[in-house]
Amino acid sequence: MDTSYAERHIRALGLAKECAALGARIRTMEYVTGLTRGQLARLFFADRKSAPRGRPPDSPDWYHSANLLNRTEASIFVSTYRRIRELGFGPAEALVSGYKHYLAVCRVHPRISFDRAFDLASHMDGLWIVRAPNFSLLTCPVCASQYVTSVCAHPVTNHECPFCKLVNRYPRDPRIQMSFPVSALPDVTAIQLGVIALSKRMSG
Ligand SMILES: [Zn+2]
Repeated sequence: MDTSYAERHIRALGLAKECAALGARIRTMEYVTGLTRGQLARLFFADRKSAPRGRPPDSPDWYHSANLLNRTEASIFVSTYRRIRELGFGPAEALVSGYKHYLAVCRVHPRISFDRAFDLASHMDGLWIVRAPNFSLLTCPVCASQYVTSVCAHPVTNHECPFCKLVNRYPRDPRIQMSFPVSALPDVTAIQLGVIALSKRMSG
């Protein structure tokens, strides 16, 4: 058998496994891995009832009417995805790694599904399901965060930046406080005492 074919196939299977674990629907996995619907259904959705159903996300309309937390979290995912792409990784790897990073950042109550992340990345780069980009990533002139906006928008102020709005609303919005809890600073004294105790034990 052609080795490169075998390697490509094994790689696609590994990618499909990661997508399935992150909650992807079969359609998303078909685009990301290049495997067929039949192969994916047999391998990952033997119980058809367990496959995610319903209409796939359509982000250009959704994003512009989405609430502040959804727009913020979409921007966190897309800016991570973009950074990984800029390091030279392919879109599939950037999607999976970027989504895992997003889950680690927004672990309290993640609002962006893997299928949504796939749709956002597609509309960002003009790939998989679309031919031309619908989104671009802008850097806010005030807080320097990167956020998603429409490809034809060129705002010169921070009036569209979800991060500036979030910071503004944080003190009086319990929903935002719950989604992004301020993590307690580590107790430096305790760490230092621990290091001293450890070094004493090692030298003694
Ligand atoms: Zn900002």
